[in-house]
Amino acid sequence: MSDRRTELLSRCRAALGADAVLTGKRVHERSAGIWGPPRTIAAGALVRPADTEQVAQVLAICNELGQRVVVHGGLTGVVDGAWAEPADVVLSLERLTGVETVDPIGATLQVRAGTTLAAVQDAAAEHGLMFPLDIGARGTATIGGNVATNAGGNRVIRYGMIRSMVLGLEAVLADGTVLSSLSRMVKNNAGYDLKQLFIGTEGTLGIVTRVVLRLVPRPTSRTTALVGVGDFDRVGRLLGHVSAACGGMLSACEVMWHDYYTFVSAGRPRPLPAEHSYYVLFEALGDEPQRDPERFASILADAQATGLLEDAVVAKSGAEEEAIWAIRDDVVRLLELRPMFLFDVSLPIDAVEAYVARIRAALTEAWPDGRLFVFGHLGDGNIHLAVSAGPGSGDARTAVEHIVYGPLGAIGGSISAEHGIGLEKKPYLDWCRSDEEIAVMRAIKKALDPHGILNPGKVFD
Ligand SMILES: Cc1cc2nc3c(=O)[nH]c(=O)nc-3n(C[C@H](O)[C@H](O)[C@H](O)COP(=O)(O)OP(=O)(O)OC[C@H]3O[C@@H](n4cnc5c(N)ncnc54)[C@H](O)[C@@H]3O)c2cc1C
Repeated sequence: MSDRRTELLSRCRAALGADAVLTGKRVHERSAGIWGPPRTIAAGALVRPADTEQVAQVLAICNELGQRVVVHGGLTGVVDGAWAEPADVVLSLERLTGVETVDPIGATLQVRAGTTLAAVQDAAAEHGLMFPLDIGARGTATIGGNVATNAGGNRVIRYGMIRSMVLGLEAVLADGTVLSSLSRMVKNNAGYDLKQLFIGTEGTLGIVTRVVLRLVPRPTSRTTALVGVGDFDRVGRLLGHVSAACGGMLSACEVMWHDYYTFVSAGRPRPLPAEHSYYVLFEALGDEPQRDPERFASILADAQATGLLEDAVVAKSGAEEEAIWAIRDDVVRLLELRPMFLFDVSLPIDAVEAYVARIRAALTEAWPDGRLFVFGHLGDGNIHLAVSAGPGSGDARTAVEHIVYGPLGAIGGSISAEHGIGLEKKPYLDWCRSDEEIAVMRAIKKALDPHGILNPGKVFD
């Protein structure tokens, strides 16, 4: 062991306690996440601080020794943002958990960053409130990870991405400085809004340790419907119709193309038969439980009368709601077809159909036996594409990326709608960001992390 590594480990053990510093097998037997090929954590050491002060101590030590640090939340990230090399130290937030306070009057909640999204949703519900962020990985993904990736999810159409739900946060800078901006106020224009530096910057500028979240009144009705539609033009018009008729109640508009619905719903009871080209999942949140489902059903009946939809089912129980959402959320099932390449792009809704047709044609030409699954948060112009180029095609990734990302620049789209850049999309950042934008990103990184120890090599070099 080198002198520097010996010093690093002994100083971390002195600061955190021996049990909180893992090395060797205790690190390497841990899974590095569910995406990509199955693999375990390669880092040389993993530290588990229990509070902000310990995070600050670890970073101060690492900064002094020039040690690279990669933060781990729930490891559900999709773009290799939490990947750690053997030379890296992983800083896991698994002990930094718990909801600290809920203010039911001001509708705010303060939470430690390693807490799961589901725990935050539950804590808000206990106080008659709702934390509106919702993603399929809610049981494992952490609030710190959600903030670091600026998570979007199923309800962006109504509540925005997590950026719009963060009132304040505490972060530890590369040199161990604790930057505490735990504001509970909605309005605070006193100088720069520093919390934005840590939202969506993927652990490259600081480690988020605490977050103050804005809650909303808990709706008393939830209506979930699944609708079968014959063509994409009708999908767009249906969204316009439902959105206008629902007023502000519409909280989700998820679309699954035929291939996705058929594959993921195989072997379970199907709410609708697998005969439609598109499946649109609507969710409306309201305050009149007796009337809202009926009202939603009549909005859909109007749409059916004008030929916008072919078939529809409105969930009549919590179990039926869950069964519909389970099909949309069970993205992980696609991994049965590994190697599977998952993409998250955004583009104007009126450009989606032509874009998907172009991608499909190019993929089929290159890999006639491949499969393309399309689904996503269409209400936000955000679609996911899962591409299986066929057995033994692990090295096809770059070619597939060129096909998927290639057309986006010309149609004003983005190579990353909500998953971030991480390592995976780094080569393509300048396909949708200008040189000037990237230069400013680099300048901010250099100012906050001059030794480049935080999540090095992620987002840009
Ligand atoms: C089934 C499934 C469905 C999903 N659906 C969605 C979806 O609808 N919308 C969406 O946006 N994402 C979705 N995701 C992706 C993923 O859940 C999100 O990116 C999530 O926000 C990551 O949280 P995490 O705690 O798992 O972060 P990790 O995977 O542990 O880390 C992600 C990145 O954040 C950094 N990081 C983690 N914690 C901190 C911290 N405290 N401070 C600073 N940096 C940190 C890491 O270094 C890494 O760069 C889905 C994933 C799965 C498995």
